[in-house]
Amino acid sequence: MNALPRPADRSWWLEEALGHAEFAGEPAPPLAHDITADVVIVGGGYTGMWTAYFLKEREPGLDVVLLEQDICGGGPSGRNGGFVNGFSDELELLLELYGEEGRRTADLADRSIDEVGAWCADHDVDAWYSASGDLGVSTSPAQDARVRSTLEETTAAGLGGTYLRQTPEQVRARCDSPVFREGLFSTHAAHVQPARLARGLRRVLLERGVRIFEGTPVARFRAGSPVVAETPHGSVRAGRAVLGVNAWAHAWRAFRRDVAVRGTYIVMSAPAPEALERIGWTGGEGLYDFRTALHYVRSTPDSRIAFGGAGLRVARQGIGPRYRYDEGSVASLVADFRRWFPSLAEVPLEAAWGGPIDMSGHHLPFFGTLGGGTVHFGLGFTGNGVGPCHLGGRILSGLALGAEDGFTSLPLVGATPKRFPPSWLFRPGERVVSAAILRKDRLEDDGRRPDPFTAALARLPRRLGYNLGP
Ligand SMILES: Cc1cc2nc3c(=O)[nH]c(=O)nc-3n(C[C@H](O)[C@H](O)[C@H](O)COP(=O)(O)OP(=O)(O)OC[C@H]3O[C@@H](n4cnc5c(N)ncnc54)[C@H](O)[C@@H]3O)c2cc1C
Repeated sequence: MNALPRPADRSWWLEEALGHAEFAGEPAPPLAHDITADVVIVGGGYTGMWTAYFLKEREPGLDVVLLEQDICGGGPSGRNGGFVNGFSDELELLLELYGEEGRRTADLADRSIDEVGAWCADHDVDAWYSASGDLGVSTSPAQDARVRSTLEETTAAGLGGTYLRQTPEQVRARCDSPVFREGLFSTHAAHVQPARLARGLRRVLLERGVRIFEGTPVARFRAGSPVVAETPHGSVRAGRAVLGVNAWAHAWRAFRRDVAVRGTYIVMSAPAPEALERIGWTGGEGLYDFRTALHYVRSTPDSRIAFGGAGLRVARQGIGPRYRYDEGSVASLVADFRRWFPSLAEVPLEAAWGGPIDMSGHHLPFFGTLGGGTVHFGLGFTGNGVGPCHLGGRILSGLALGAEDGFTSLPLVGATPKRFPPSWLFRPGERVVSAAILRKDRLEDDGRRPDPFTAALARLPRRLGYNLGP
């Protein structure tokens, strides 16, 4: 049963969505000549598409062009776990960094959780939105302390009504796994079929007159007035630009040390309604554990299990095919799936895929402006973008229109990201630290304590001021 699942190059979610005419949508052929626009958006993920959506909401007559090298949703927006969260688990940090403005940021990010659902309903996008909450579970004695400290932090930050402590019995009543211990249920969390959301956004944008060109990589970009985005067979000259390029920003000189790229992977089971009944996991809760490289696990309406976790180490080179499928990372996930759900041994794992995430040093996205005021960007979602990119779209649409509003005034706008070291230092350092984190997680999974050297190495990023690692 531990054979590796097939690589799903487009992700199971995209395969599912593209099988329906409403999500496959009308073609958006590559740009084939030179054009002009009011705003050019680079990147057809949630960031770029929510920005386009809010731009058209605010100024329906605006001429918006969106350029995507693959298809809209072909990047992480169509391949993620579909957990829709805000920043409540970052609230302590937001308060520390920005005081009450940090709380306002978290409140607005929380609003996005509900607004994504309302948007789907208003626009007839059946993205399987379900506000079924998340259950954080400890899967080792070492994680018990983290459950408790998270509960203390969230209660101190005023989220006592949202995060509810769960005894082992309560945890197992929601989902019975022999590795689950105590837990934390967050009531304000939702889930979507991520590719349906991405492709639904694309449909609505086309209906509103956004000109989308897929298969259109921006090979050269000139900031200024006008901004010029050059692609293989045509260019766009525009008054303003928005960059929603996620991990690909790493190849842009301006952002090289602002984001680090990491792979994360998902394995998808076959439908298993009886198996889910057997373990009592029928409430649709998302599950995650308190490892440093956490697992994120959810079910689907047709009773599949999507089992995700961090994999391939941070890379400083380009975003190659191993971000789509990495055998080592997938094999670890398969083993972890079987460890979590030994009673589901007969359930086949049908597909696996991955994608890159854009890690920021603070574990928070940052927004800003370059090129003398004409180029705006939103980056660093660090694996939590499904909800926050909606907020990001509001922010970036405001920045592109020169608006001063409650979104463009948020402290994440203009925030200086904590930079990563230059690559000659970062690459070897990261390799050693990642290996230590992995070792620490594995030892703790086995109920063992990491040796002091491993523990110290794993904590190095925090000691250096990054909000990453244990
Ligand atoms: C496997 C996986 C699981 C995840 N799970 C979750 C989750 O459960 N919940 C959550 O909140 N977040 C999750 N994330 C993170 C989340 O998917 C991202 O934060 C979010 O999708 C980012 O959206 P984006 O639009 O900024 O980036 P993307 O979706 O990556 O879109 C950027 C787009 O820009 C395009 N592009 C880049 N460079 C160029 C160029 N030069 N020219 C033209 N186009 C270009 C890319 O092709 C890409 O489509 C996960 C990520 C992965 C990979």
